[in-house]
Amino acid sequence: MGGLLVGAGTAVVTLPAGAATEAVRDVLGRSAQVARLAAVRSTTAPDASAADDRAADGDETASRGSLRAPVEEPVVAHETLLSADPPVLALPPGLTMVDVESGLLAADVPERARQTFTVVPGSDPGPGTGRVRTIRVEVEDGLPVDGARFAATVMATLNDPRGWGADGSVSFARTDGDAELRVLLASPETVDDLCYPLETEGQVSCGRSGNAVLNFRRWVLATDEYAADKAAYRQYLVNHEVGHLLGHGHETCPAPGALAPLMQQQSYRAAPCVPNPWPFPAP
Ligand SMILES: [Zn+2]
Repeated sequence: MGGLLVGAGTAVVTLPAGAATEAVRDVLGRSAQVARLAAVRSTTAPDASAADDRAADGDETASRGSLRAPVEEPVVAHETLLSADPPVLALPPGLTMVDVESGLLAADVPERARQTFTVVPGSDPGPGTGRVRTIRVEVEDGLPVDGARFAATVMATLNDPRGWGADGSVSFARTDGDAELRVLLASPETVDDLCYPLETEGQVSCGRSGNAVLNFRRWVLATDEYAADKAAYRQYLVNHEVGHLLGHGHETCPAPGALAPLMQQQSYRAAPCVPNPWPFPAP
C-alpha cells in the first residue's frame, strides 16, 4: 500500500520527501478530519468512495458501516504515508495546503453557524516588544476550523516584521483568558449581528469595540484580487481589522499603481492600487 487514496473530488499534493513528510506529520497530527478521510479511503474499495464522501459529511447511517472495521487502520495508514517516497497527502475537497494551514477543515461556508464562540486554548507571549497587547482568539461553533491553526495564523500575522509592531511600538501576546482585544472568526450572518450598526451585508468584516470580527466567507474565498494568494488576503484581514482596534481609520488609494494602504477597504477593491496586506513599510 505504498501509493494511495484518492476518491472523487479529493485534491492531491505531491511534495519533495523531506518537506512533505513534515507537512504530512503536521497535518495528520492535528487534523482528525483529514486523517479520518485518509483512513477511510485507504481501507475501502475505490468504488465506495462516493459513499465515503457522503459519510464524511455527517451521514451517520452510511458512516457507521464503512468506519466500523478499520478502527486500528489509521495508524497503519499514517506510517505508510510517512514512509512513501514521494509521500502523498489527501486534502479536503476544494482546499489547498495553504488553506489547511490557515485553519480550514472544509470549504463550505454556512450562512449562519451556532452564534456561540469557543476560545482557542493556549497562550503565546509573542516577542514582548513595545506595548504588549493581549489577544484572545475565538471561533464560532459549527465552523469547520482548526482553532489552533487559525490562532497561529493570526499571531504570526500580527507579530510579523511587516506588521503593526514593525516600528517597535507594539507587539501581541495571545491568551485564552481576559484580553484587551478579541479576534473572532464568524459566519456571515453572525458577523452582521456582531458588527451592527456597521453594514457588513454578509460579505465583509469589521473591527470595533475591541473585537476584530472576521467573516468566514472571506477567510475561505478571499477576493478576486487576492485569489492567487489567499494567505496574503487573510493577513490583510487580520491586520486591517486589528488596525481599527488600534485606532486606525480608513485610507484611500493614493495613486494608480501604488501599494494599497493597509487601511484601504481592500475587501471591496484594492484597484487602482496594488493589493497590500501590511502596514509597514508604509506605502
Ligand atoms: Zn475597515
